[in-house]
Amino acid sequence: MNCSVCGNPFHGGRVVFRCNCGVLTHAQCWEKHIIESHTPPFTLGTITRDDVFRPKESVQGVG
Ligand SMILES: [Zn+2]
Ligand SMILES: [Zn+2]
Repeated sequence: MNCSVCGNPFHGGRVVFRCNCGVLTHAQCWEKHIIESHTPPFTLGTITRDDVFRPKESVQGVG
């Protein structure tokens, strides 16, 4: 079985991450898998003094 991010095989006894989506990755490849596959949509904005979130106009993450 190979890492779904870099495609290289796993070595016995090494730490392997299994994602909720079912894929296996090396520990060092985990963040890349999250960024490439699971980055949630987000909105940039600011917090007012009254703790109200104010989104910046039409700046949205893609994902
Ligand atoms: Zn890998
Ligand atoms: Zn995943």
